[in-house]
Amino acid sequence: MDNLKVIIIGAGIGGLTAGIALRQAGYEVEIHDKAKELRPAGAGISLWSNGVKVLNRLGLGEKIARIGGRMDRMEYRSHIDELLNHINLIPLVEKVGQRPYPVARTDLQNLLLEAFGRESVHLHSRCIGVEESDRTATAIFEGDRRVTGDLVIGADGIHSVVRRYVTGKEISLRYADYVNWNGLVEANADYTPENNWVIYVGEGKRASMMPVGGDRFYFFFGCPMAKGSTVKPENRREELAQIFQGWTTPVQKLIQNLDPLQTNRLEIHDIDPLDRLIQGRVVLLGDSAHATTPTLGQGGCQAMEDAEILARYLQTTNIGVADALKRYETARKDRTANLVLKARKRTDTIYGKKQEITQQWYDQLKQENPEDVVNALAKIILSGPLN
Ligand SMILES: Cc1cc2nc3c(=O)[nH]c(=O)nc-3n(C[C@H](O)[C@H](O)[C@H](O)COP(=O)(O)OP(=O)(O)OC[C@H]3O[C@@H](n4cnc5c(N)ncnc54)[C@H](O)[C@@H]3O)c2cc1C
Repeated sequence: MDNLKVIIIGAGIGGLTAGIALRQAGYEVEIHDKAKELRPAGAGISLWSNGVKVLNRLGLGEKIARIGGRMDRMEYRSHIDELLNHINLIPLVEKVGQRPYPVARTDLQNLLLEAFGRESVHLHSRCIGVEESDRTATAIFEGDRRVTGDLVIGADGIHSVVRRYVTGKEISLRYADYVNWNGLVEANADYTPENNWVIYVGEGKRASMMPVGGDRFYFFFGCPMAKGSTVKPENRREELAQIFQGWTTPVQKLIQNLDPLQTNRLEIHDIDPLDRLIQGRVVLLGDSAHATTPTLGQGGCQAMEDAEILARYLQTTNIGVADALKRYETARKDRTANLVLKARKRTDTIYGKKQEITQQWYDQLKQENPEDVVNALAKIILSGPLN
């Protein structure tokens, strides 16, 4: 279809990637975000090759390679530093045809904002509802401001307002029973080699570092915790030191050297797979459609895949907008639902929901054939749209 006007709610990874893809398709695109100033949610993100391929297709390949870390291998170690498994990631790159890139979120956000056009994101623009006619979709903003186009994309994240319109009900978030801390530190071979992604596991918790561009490591910690705990930023180092007491030296060094004021701390949630991702001319994309726990590192990558598929159907089919959205829903619903459920299961295993299953996993890590791990990662990547 030609000459569409697209209204996107949300300037996160999903909204911006969709904005770039749809502009490149020749459409008029407006992005609205409730934030007064856009800040990345979190410190780093691992873009697996399926997400990177979408950026390649949008002409952003060199740019993402420039900000991405070089991650050649992946290591599982016990909390007392026994090597459980190490996986060479080069065979994965060869299988799927593209490197994964762990990146600092600020760098990714800048890249996407520059590609879309920072000045054409409407900030301080909070969507409060959506309405439709036969031929148009309208986003309604605070102050009763309305913007009408051919379709509205709800890329408004896990707490989506547009989702209420699409599903016709309030969708509850599901707490995944653990807290995540994340941030950036200078890369330092005392922690782990600079081309390595290390994951320490034990006691139903984990601590991890991976290389991002700019000679930095993105680090994260995870620990099961009851809902509702809060710790002031200035006390986050002490909190981590206590939770990871007795863990191996690199983990202790990381805790000593991180900046507690720049360390994010958040309770992790996901949502159950939705019955529908579209309603007429309104469509959900990214976390609004399929917020997931981050244990497969696929949430952002799936948002990018959504953007690619949506742009493709709008561009290449010609019955009408609602028809293109139906095709998008068919292509995305099962893939994203399966990944949400798979990540949920993995989360429960990693974070000790049933201790015997977590223990079995630790034992299995020692015996796991690295080739099987590569094949499992390749399967997820190659089931994406750019395989
Ligand atoms: C700890 C953690 C680690 C992760 N690690 C990875 C990883 O390694 N790899 C990976 O691929 N994914 C990862 N993810 C998932 C990834 O971060 C998300 O899937 C992705 O950021 C979702 O992007 P989005 O654009 O859909 O939503 P968001 O990034 O949440 O953006 C939504 C935007 O909408 C705006 N908005 C919300 N409501 C309104 C409104 N009413 N009106 C206007 N604007 C609104 C918000 O201000 C925001 O800018 C991780 C997630 C977490 C929490």
